Amino acid sequence: MRYCIGIDLGGTNIAGGIADLDGNLLLTDSLKTDLPCPAEDIADRIALLCRRMASALELPLSDAAWVGIGAPGSVDVDTGTVLYANNLEFSNVPLGRMVQDRTGLTVHLGNDANVAAWGEYCAGAGKGSSSMVMLTLGTGVGGGVVLNGKLLTGCNGAGAELGHFVIDMQGRECNCGLRGCFEQYGSVTALIRQATEAMAGHPESRLWELAGGDAAKVTGKVILAAYDAGDETAVQVVRAYVQYLCIGVTSIINIFQPEVLCLGGGISRRGDVLVEPLKEYNALHGYGRSCPKQPRILSAKLFGDAGIIGAALLGRDA
Ligand SMILES: [Zn+2]
Repeated sequence: MRYCIGIDLGGTNIAGGIADLDGNLLLTDSLKTDLPCPAEDIADRIALLCRRMASALELPLSDAAWVGIGAPGSVDVDTGTVLYANNLEFSNVPLGRMVQDRTGLTVHLGNDANVAAWGEYCAGAGKGSSSMVMLTLGTGVGGGVVLNGKLLTGCNGAGAELGHFVIDMQGRECNCGLRGCFEQYGSVTALIRQATEAMAGHPESRLWELAGGDAAKVTGKVILAAYDAGDETAVQVVRAYVQYLCIGVTSIINIFQPEVLCLGGGISRRGDVLVEPLKEYNALHGYGRSCPKQPRILSAKLFGDAGIIGAALLGRDA
């Protein structure tokens, strides 16, 4: 049976999966990344994981069509090189060749956020569309852009950084060195910060009770639970956050006019809170609001598996 292998390389775990060529996962498995360690050890672990998964399904490793890897940082997709990845301490690591030497398989490499978008495009919310932008809300704001069935990587593999366009020149400092990046207002980290700041002035808020009296324990889930309970502070925080999202997402839609705008990250499961207001805002303020074809704004479908499935499908055309 022809199958493909996807690897999602993170700072904590190396997650892997075996999929058929349509992106249906047959098995997943993972290993600890165990940082700090040399790149050779990581390549060894990726090869070990590939072998372990193939033998669990009693498939010869040589039957795999390819291995796809999503790696953090900037990646040269043509040479299979991780140019720079801060958390792995990688600088110009030819990870593609290293895994190819250890497995005998063709290796495709991509940036992890782009690869997750590729998965969502091929097998999730973007399936069947010609263009899709995926925006993932988490610790930061990540994403990927697929135009005419091709991933946009930029000239050095660091393109489609959708969290780092500036929405407030005088705004909050961003870890990229700029001020006022969208990520500083649209990430879940930003939502939590906005909630804890509001809590300081509202001792009566349910947020305190739901966080066990400790502002450091506020999470996206806690905020949405307080919002659902009708807590006034939480409702205001969420409304303000959604307003930032609307501005950012509509700007992105104005630039790309994608057929599908897909919102990823655990929080996007709450389509009623996030996706519906985005649709309304874009219909009112989007540049193409009077055009007959409107972008479809959707929640992601693959969630935690998008990285593995996207990596597994890296060797495939859309
Ligand atoms: Zn930034």
